Amino acid sequence: MRLLFALVSAALSAAVIAAPPQSAQPPSAATDALILITLDGARVEEMFGGLDSGILQSTLSGSQTLENHPSYKRFHASSPEERREKLMPFFWGEWMARHGSIAGNPALNSSVRLTNTHRFSYPGYSEILLGEAHDATIRSNDRVQNPHVTLLEELKAVLQLPQAGVAAFASWEVFREIVEHTPGALTVNAGFEAFDHPDPLVREMSRLQFETPTPWNSVRHDIYTVGFAMAHLRTARPRVLYLALGETDDWAHDGRYDRVLESFNRTDSYLRELWTWLEAQPDYQGRTHILITTDHGRGRTSADWRQHGAKVEGAQDVWMAFVSPRVARRGEWRDHPPIFTNQAAATMAAWLGIDWTARRPGAGRGIL
Ligand SMILES: [Zn+2]
Repeated sequence: MRLLFALVSAALSAAVIAAPPQSAQPPSAATDALILITLDGARVEEMFGGLDSGILQSTLSGSQTLENHPSYKRFHASSPEERREKLMPFFWGEWMARHGSIAGNPALNSSVRLTNTHRFSYPGYSEILLGEAHDATIRSNDRVQNPHVTLLEELKAVLQLPQAGVAAFASWEVFREIVEHTPGALTVNAGFEAFDHPDPLVREMSRLQFETPTPWNSVRHDIYTVGFAMAHLRTARPRVLYLALGETDDWAHDGRYDRVLESFNRTDSYLRELWTWLEAQPDYQGRTHILITTDHGRGRTSADWRQHGAKVEGAQDVWMAFVSPRVARRGEWRDHPPIFTNQAAATMAAWLGIDWTARRPGAGRGIL
């Protein structure tokens, strides 16, 4: 019995010593990690208000009623706060409540807007990764190499990281061109693309992505993107990771509002999985800075929610969330001057000790 007690208490104190207390190692730009996450075309309406009954109603066919629709039964509630928490229980119930904050809720006089005028994907992602819009030259979603060196490439150079140390995993194939100016500078896996990994389960996922086609030739299911990103985190321990999810946009273009809602909900479970893993890793816990945002909004009404673009009112409105050991703010931002997407790059660079506007005088200033 004494021996057992000794063993247990030794194990307990070992556990206490092994578990890195949050305050023992203050965050430092020299060892901190950065994760950028984007949810393509995720509207402020769903982010802050959950299920939009008017839009779901507009998608019903024939004998369907709103009250009997599975999406309504699953995600409806009377207040925006309850609805969004049903849609994204981890994001609202835990992440923003206890670990981070989010700007962009129009109901709280909080606004986050694009500075590019195109309001579609490549210009939006490029604005996030460069800190400035280039409307004259970045104006299509074609597979054109980014004409400018991105924040990800610059971080790799300045922090002297190996290729595996800065990685981008994306559901949409055009990210291969968006995230880097110099092809091959970073670890990139985008669209329907095989991913080689020592874990047989990950290799099986790589095979399955080709066996489970989506309705879109250029966008795979997000679950594969998440699986490969998590596998790379586990084995390569990158300092900088970009996770670019796509299904919230593509189902909307197809008019499948039920699938849009399911995508938000599944994305929430991916965020929970990522966060739970990070919190259990001594080299990431308490020293990982996360910025979550979107490349554009969409139309505000049941007539135009499927669309976005220069002429679609509402597509300029986005949101931005921050989970960082150096940011004390929790919950929602309110009553502040507008934030712009071109401020994301400088905000992320500052977390790793780099002054982005000194390098790119045209870039938006850091937010925090
Ligand atoms: Zn997009």
